[in-house]
Amino acid sequence: MREFPWGEVRQALRVAQRVAVVSHVRPDGDAVGSVLGLGWALRAAGKQVSLALADGVPLNLRHLPGAEDIAPQVAGEVDWIIVVDASDRGRVGTALPAEAVVDLNIDHHKTNTAYARYNLVNPEAVSTTAVLVEFIAEMGLPLPQEAAEALLTGLITDTIGFRTANMSPQALRLAADLMEKGADLSTLYFKALVERTYEALRYWGAGLSRLQREGPLVWTALTLADREAVGYPGNDDADLVNLLNAVQGTLIAVIFIEQSDGTVKVSWRACPGVDVSGVALQFGGGGHAPAAGATIPGPLSEVQERVLAATRRLLAPQEV
Ligand code: AMP
Ligand code: MN
Ligand code: MN
Repeated sequence: MREFPWGEVRQALRVAQRVAVVSHVRPDGDAVGSVLGLGWALRAAGKQVSLALADGVPLNLRHLPGAEDIAPQVAGEVDWIIVVDASDRGRVGTALPAEAVVDLNIDHHKTNTAYARYNLVNPEAVSTTAVLVEFIAEMGLPLPQEAAEALLTGLITDTIGFRTANMSPQALRLAADLMEKGADLSTLYFKALVERTYEALRYWGAGLSRLQREGPLVWTALTLADREAVGYPGNDDADLVNLLNAVQGTLIAVIFIEQSDGTVKVSWRACPGVDVSGVALQFGGGGHAPAAGATIPGPLSEVQERVLAATRRLLAPQEV
């Protein structure tokens, strides 16, 4: 982070006219907020901007200005490619052509593989949008209200509403700065984190009705049949995993989401002092100490068994 060649990158970005900004598959608020936040800043600086997310924008983030301009893929020629909030190159999915070289990677995952020509990675930052606020200032880019709204959204969602253990006075100051740029905290918070569809709550119900516990470990699964039964249109957990973590006495919560392509999406959430990024990495995924994920091929019951075994091993040294 200290050795990042700010001057060199500033010069390269100044010359680039057409800039692509891309983030990870199954985008969360930080991915969408980072793409839009940097997109608006670059646009305000007169750049021609191409924004892409392989899986599009989830419903709870469609209110953000410019969300409708995000394409599934970067189309046409671009001079510079920036990937945000993605710990490895593969996380962008089909948003970029396979052979495209990434010029700049801006992220906060400690599992980041430094896959770009320039890598600005700060694992202490609470969100990639927090890293972007510094980047935008260092590059001398403007920060219009639309950018502030998107950047504050990433801060809100990655800290689950300012309540993760890595929250800092600095992160709160950053939120205050973005509010002063015109971002409405109350509305952005409600839209991104609180508001749910009726179908999503019934989907939670299906998962909660099968909730299981084994000491400090809780888990549940969401199946294709659950989604069909309640009419839930996504292929995610509708953020149910963040609720499982609230079960008293829990150190790790895991959720298994059956996919139609024969894989299972797994999400881990851990209490402070427990690091689930390693177990996710072991299954080909990644993430942070308190929140990690992986997509694992195999039938639900089999994946569940393998993942629970590995997760129990992680907890074992802590049980006296
Ligand atoms: P999730 O469980 O999808 O909410 O993700 C929790 C954290 O783990 C996020 O920071 C993700 O970026 C990261 N993550 C999730 N899935 C993967 C994956 N397949 N590879 C790398 N990182 C992942
Ligand atoms: Mn993310
Ligand atoms: Mn993030």
